[in-house]
Amino acid sequence: MNHALRHAVHGLAVCATTLCLSAQAQAGKAAHVHGLMHLDIAVDKQLLIVQMESPLDSLLGFEHRPRTPSQRQAADALLKRMDDGATLFKPDAAAQCVLMDTRIESAVLQSTAPAAGSKDADKKSEHADLDASYEFSCTHPDKLTAVEIGLFDAFKRLQKIEVQVAGARSQSRQTLQRPDKLVKLTR
Ligand SMILES: [Zn+2]
Repeated sequence: MNHALRHAVHGLAVCATTLCLSAQAQAGKAAHVHGLMHLDIAVDKQLLIVQMESPLDSLLGFEHRPRTPSQRQAADALLKRMDDGATLFKPDAAAQCVLMDTRIESAVLQSTAPAAGSKDADKKSEHADLDASYEFSCTHPDKLTAVEIGLFDAFKRLQKIEVQVAGARSQSRQTLQRPDKLVKLTR
């Protein structure tokens, strides 16, 4: 599946469970800029959905398939870290949010295709992304005012995060610069 289609399918899955993020955000890939990542955060009733899209370079320092044991190790460590959404994203404690679902997609890191084909694949796409989504269920969503982001602590190459927040009635955009941590949630 190509990148754009995969992203579109990803978006549909989210729309099925919560309000749809803006059509603009779903329409295509965000700009691929090293050191930058995009977050879409949506609050709908008890659900808090965080969708992340980042160049692999911002997280890992390279964007090709792992070629050496140390690169494989770094890739595995990254996937493990991304899987720990409760550390990367901390909603207000009073809201009592529990992480229910995590999805991580990165074709170059997760592919198990034989190495023979990987050289060609590397040539075709010089850049690669990692997409992730996290779904929290909150007992007291009325107490949700902000999400503390642990991404700058986790990823030293990351300098800037473009955030789009969608509440039930309004949307907002915020830009976090290292070492900002707090994304304010709008209703
Ligand atoms: Zn790149």
